Amino acid sequence: MHVETDVLIIGSGGAGMYAAIEAARAGCSVFMAERSLIGRGGATVMAQMTVAAALGEETPDHWSFHLNDTLEAGRGLCDERLARLLCEDGPVRIREMEDWGIGWARKHGRIAQAFAPGHDRPRCVYVDFLNTGPAVSKTLRGVVTRAKAIRKASDLLVVELVRAGGEVAGAVAWHVATGAPVTIAAKATIVAAGGLTRLYRRNSASANMGGDGYALALRAGAPLVDMEFVQFFPIGHLAPRLIGMDPIMWDPFRYKLGGRLLNSAGEEFAARYGVSEDGRYVITRDLATYAIAKEVEAGRGSPHGGAYLSFQHCSEAELRAAFGPVIDRLARNNIDLTRMPVEVAPIAHYHMGGIVADEGMATELLGLFVAGEAVGGANGANRLSGNAITEALVFGARAGRSAGERVERMPTHAFRPEAARETLDLLAGGADGNDINTAAAIQRLQAIMADDVGPFRTEAGLARALAEDGE
Ligand SMILES: Cc1cc2nc3c(=O)[nH]c(=O)nc-3n(C[C@H](O)[C@H](O)[C@H](O)COP(=O)(O)OP(=O)(O)OC[C@H]3O[C@@H](n4cnc5c(N)ncnc54)[C@H](O)[C@@H]3O)c2cc1C
Repeated sequence: MHVETDVLIIGSGGAGMYAAIEAARAGCSVFMAERSLIGRGGATVMAQMTVAAALGEETPDHWSFHLNDTLEAGRGLCDERLARLLCEDGPVRIREMEDWGIGWARKHGRIAQAFAPGHDRPRCVYVDFLNTGPAVSKTLRGVVTRAKAIRKASDLLVVELVRAGGEVAGAVAWHVATGAPVTIAAKATIVAAGGLTRLYRRNSASANMGGDGYALALRAGAPLVDMEFVQFFPIGHLAPRLIGMDPIMWDPFRYKLGGRLLNSAGEEFAARYGVSEDGRYVITRDLATYAIAKEVEAGRGSPHGGAYLSFQHCSEAELRAAFGPVIDRLARNNIDLTRMPVEVAPIAHYHMGGIVADEGMATELLGLFVAGEAVGGANGANRLSGNAITEALVFGARAGRSAGERVERMPTHAFRPEAARETLDLLAGGADGNDINTAAAIQRLQAIMADDVGPFRTEAGLARALAEDGE
């Protein structure tokens, strides 16, 4: 099958859908290829909690204050141009989502803004603390569905970008359900394929977040930046066994109820690392990850190699008022938070690095744009809570607009079938006796990444990882 479109969008999370909407607004035909289900394959639909933007609804605020916090959280390593765009454009996107009917939570008639660690004031909007991502995704899916210029293809895995005369001219994809190859000619291509945290053994990712976007861009010749900056979510669930619940579910608990992060001696140890929590939730993700790993290293970890998180200071009534049915689900897992702490430990959660982009989300390769978590640099070495959804919406809109501007200047498609031939041959190759067991390969890679490319990276560990990967 061969498809022709003005704009090809790879991935349909928050970034991909916003880019599609904006490109369609610019008068382009859009083809959105998604390896899973449209709007349901990646991190956006899984996000639970909050979205950061300096709306100034609860407390006076300005995007420059948000930028200061973003730069500080990023440990001075942010790409300041991109960080600024994230903070400056954020409020516009959040209000547009409100116009599209997302229904941000309100207090006294104004959009509610919660305080989150690393922000200097209440800045994070939400729908509710467990369903913000699904609401973002549903709202964008609605707008996408109403835009007649946007064609959507689920189950379509993009495997290679196609170049013509040094520019990106489209892609080759593989239809997951039938195995059929698909070529796509596009005047502009936007990578919005999300992050890579599935490459780690313990992660908060879906099966579709394996770094495809970075690989596509890199193989086509677009540079990447900060690939070593993986954000570990410090309080991923570790023990006891918890079935049917999200491993990062303790974050909303901490937002609402504080909670105490304790070592095996029952000490609230964050103070040892420079942050006095005292039952509040103020420690940033990188510092909490560091602190937990150091406590474990010092022999003060919990039995399964993490820390304890305790809500024993809360009564059953308080827990139920905050989380209602979730408390019943915990009870079905034999967890009674009034009587016991749970064990938590860092899990791979978000990727700060990614594809190098300018303010228009153009990569260094003509014809190729990028949006969302696939973009590198805006968050430096550590992302603030709530900045990722904002980034997806802001960078998505910008990428869609820039793609539209390129399309206006391009009378015809540059795509030539010969340029796709090698990839098509590879797809048609089938079994040649050298097939690898991909499930086993992914497990092996996850183990290498977890053991040697985790929060504490050393030269020896990285060398070991490279050597093992090459075997
Ligand atoms: C569990 C969880 C909770 C989170 N909570 C929050 C939060 O509360 N607040 C916040 O700001 N951020 C949060 N984040 C981070 C945030 O959700 C993401 O950074 C953001 O949604 C990324 O949006 P995106 O559109 O760039 O990527 P995604 O939403 O991940 O979408 C990428 C899409 O690309 C598709 N894709 C991948 N490869 C291909 C391919 N080769 N071909 C075709 N399609 C492909 C995927 O299937 C997916 O649908 C959370 C992340 C997780 C995992």
